[in-house]
Amino acid sequence: MRQCCVPGCNHPAELEVILYDFYLNDGGEVFSEQDSTCPYICAEHAVKNEKQAEGVREPRGSIVYPYTNQNEANGFTIYRPVASS
Ligand SMILES: [Zn+2]
Repeated sequence: MRQCCVPGCNHPAELEVILYDFYLNDGGEVFSEQDSTCPYICAEHAVKNEKQAEGVREPRGSIVYPYTNQNEANGFTIYRPVASS
């Protein structure tokens, strides 16, 4: 079971964290990679992460999150369910 990335949180992580961006050029390139600063998160912290995020979720946007994207890369955080195994 994956652990939530938030320090001190020992909940299992229900969600994988993806850093997502979309480049508005002719190529329409998509950036979509696992967030290296917080690869997995629990549902509770994902909700907190979204509620406390500051910024607009838009292509090439810059958003400050309490838990994810700690390198403040352009784009925004999305989540997807961890495949249960
Ligand atoms: Zn957590």
